[in-house]
Amino acid sequence: MRGTLFNIQRFCLHDGPGIRTTVFLKGCPLRCKWCHNPAGLSPNIQIQFLEDKCVGCAKCASTCDCHSLAGTEHILNRADCRKCFECVESCPSGALTVCGEVMTAEELFSVIMADKDFYEDDGGVTFSGGEPLLQADFVREVAELVRKEGYTVTVDTCGEVPWEAFETVLPVTDLFLYDIKAICPEIHKNATGVSNGRILENLHRLDACGKDIWARIPVIPTVNATAEEMTKIAELLESLSNIKRVTLIPYHSLGHHQYKALGYVYRFDTSLSVSDGQIAEFTEIFTERGFYVK
Ligand code: SF4
Ligand code: SF4
Repeated sequence: MRGTLFNIQRFCLHDGPGIRTTVFLKGCPLRCKWCHNPAGLSPNIQIQFLEDKCVGCAKCASTCDCHSLAGTEHILNRADCRKCFECVESCPSGALTVCGEVMTAEELFSVIMADKDFYEDDGGVTFSGGEPLLQADFVREVAELVRKEGYTVTVDTCGEVPWEAFETVLPVTDLFLYDIKAICPEIHKNATGVSNGRILENLHRLDACGKDIWARIPVIPTVNATAEEMTKIAELLESLSNIKRVTLIPYHSLGHHQYKALGYVYRFDTSLSVSDGQIAEFTEIFTERGFYVK
């Protein structure tokens, strides 16, 4: 079994209990306008071009017709790229890199286990992305290996996957981090490209299974950063039985430079921000209903 991932982060403290290794898998069914992890959008391995590292040597252009230089400006024709990555090999400055990697379950398991001495009782691995449940069979295989060693497994999901994907990983998952962006279907569709019917249905089904869930709510100006929308989310969570924690994640524009590097256009307003006062106000909406907010 093989999976496609774009990052492995060690010593993570916020993606579940204890010290964890977080694995970021490629591919996502949503297109959140503010997404700070654009490398997770495509399920495929991609070329990344880092403009500030390019020295204009044109070695890539002599390797492949997809590259050209207009003066000192480097141009990459991604549409015709065959993903042979010879250009990456030819680039002397590291301006061209490969975004993504295919690994077998055993290879990934070995990387995760390299830090086992730090996991102690409650640490382990978190699968994130992108949307890890788009590769549910791979997640399950790695998770089974990790659980056999006595470490915990967390899955960070946006919920926009067939329920069968949840069923695949349920037996080997200790905790789900479940992203909730909006209750209002129009707000959700406008902000992410899809409505939230399946996401909310899956959340209810997951809760009925009795698994621990931490709700993760990105707080996005002009999208859901209103008392009205936060109250609707809090009311939804109140109707569930297994929400153990709520995390509010304020919008930040870190990562927007990576859009250009991957050939995307960043569509959100980087000048927007969420104030500490707003976060305090929204936190209270959850704490006054008895939720642990962290
Ligand atoms: S990956 Fe191969 S086909 Fe694509 S731009 Fe580089 S050299 Fe050309
Ligand atoms: S080979 Fe690398 S440094 Fe040279 S022009 Fe191409 S991208 Fe820039």
